[in-house]
Amino acid sequence: MRSAIVLGAGMAGVGAALHLQGRGWSVALVDRQAPGLATSYGNVGLIQSEAVEPFAMPRDLSTLWAIATGRSNDVHYDPGALLHHLGPLVRYWWHSAPRRHARISQAYATLIAQAAPEHAGLIAAAGAEHLVRREGFRVLYRAVRDMDRAVTDAERLRARYGVRSCAMSPEALGAAEPVLKQTGAGAVHWQDPWSIRDPGGLVSAYADLFRQRGGTVRSGEAVSLTHMARGWSVRTDDGPIEAEAAVVALGPWSPELLRPLGYRFPMVRKRGYHRHWRAAQTLSAPLMDAAYGYCLAPMTKGLRVVTGAELARPDADHSPVQLERAEAAARDLLDLGAPIENRPWLGTRPCMPDMLPVVGEATRHPGLWLHFGHGHQGFTLGPATGRLLAELMSGETPLVHSEPFRPGRY
Ligand SMILES: Cc1cc2nc3c(=O)[nH]c(=O)nc-3n(C[C@H](O)[C@H](O)[C@H](O)COP(=O)(O)OP(=O)(O)OC[C@H]3O[C@@H](n4cnc5c(N)ncnc54)[C@H](O)[C@@H]3O)c2cc1C
Repeated sequence: MRSAIVLGAGMAGVGAALHLQGRGWSVALVDRQAPGLATSYGNVGLIQSEAVEPFAMPRDLSTLWAIATGRSNDVHYDPGALLHHLGPLVRYWWHSAPRRHARISQAYATLIAQAAPEHAGLIAAAGAEHLVRREGFRVLYRAVRDMDRAVTDAERLRARYGVRSCAMSPEALGAAEPVLKQTGAGAVHWQDPWSIRDPGGLVSAYADLFRQRGGTVRSGEAVSLTHMARGWSVRTDDGPIEAEAAVVALGPWSPELLRPLGYRFPMVRKRGYHRHWRAAQTLSAPLMDAAYGYCLAPMTKGLRVVTGAELARPDADHSPVQLERAEAAARDLLDLGAPIENRPWLGTRPCMPDMLPVVGEATRHPGLWLHFGHGHQGFTLGPATGRLLAELMSGETPLVHSEPFRPGRY
């Protein structure tokens, strides 16, 4: 039987572990904490069928000016930190040029198309249906001009990719979400995405399924990964594990693990925050407030307020700027109630400069497989790219053309 160690038990690692197991591999999933407690816990919980085009770097002068002058809440940056991000950001800018972004989107859309079907099978097998809402999500626009632009763009996505959405008047939005005190210029309702009431809980349910099917989950430090004559070994709390293959699925921590092996993967680390609130009445589906760049996601734990991207120094502490602005803007829309946590959650979107995840074998280490860099949609994509990786490792014909995702492009 073929054997693999999967390092990292977020959505990417658990997705890969399940697909390898399904192909007859003996798999050990290793993480320093329980499954689904890092980035895959703290997100908005959207399974984004509508995200057929990855998130490009803004290139129009008015958006850049708003970011540079601190007027936009979508992005916040510490000027002193920009030097740390410069290399990946320059490459991100280059790949975000409209012609390149259009080419990248073609590859990305093929993966996104597989995302919900892959989750559907796992949700059913894991008995996790109670965590899933299938009502899509809405983006509220406060200004008519922004709403009009959004509707035009939604029509473009429908024409090009068949993505379904509908424009809602302020009255229709108010009727759908009676809890809202104001409804601005209305909303675009993306109808196909699903939302998860407890994103970490879904990863944990998938990890339980992996165990039930005979998989091993171990507590261990990925940095103990050692290349041996016939494979790979890692130390766990229950002793060393050896396998012929190792998969690096450590989300934003992946590039650091690979550095000592001579790999330099550039990553745009976009931090994000969330905090839960005890709103007496909540929303029926997640809502993004476009003007203030944050999302409101109704979760089992409370109403989760989630921020946009922050570029900070590598070891910078929490900075409250975006979350405080988001919470103030959210209070215009509904009664938030009291906060559940004093200290907000902080995580990092692991974004590659070309906006595509890294899926494939490391160029100089046979048997070392890479599965990270899912950026803004890793919760959506983990099971689909996990399948792609398992197919490549098993020598099967991959479900999508795998070339755009190959590690050797860096
Ligand atoms: C604010 C925010 C909102 C988001 N919203 C969405 C959304 O709505 N939909 C969507 O699709 N995506 C969303 N994303 C992106 C998504 O959350 C990530 O792309 C995804 O969770 C990455 O999954 P992962 O498994 O690669 O990484 P993680 O979930 O971070 O998993 C990596 C694992 O590696 C482990 N690990 C790290 N270092 C070591 C080590 N040295 N030894 C052992 N274990 C280690 C960690 O403990 C962790 O469990 C959002 C991200 C953020 C930050």
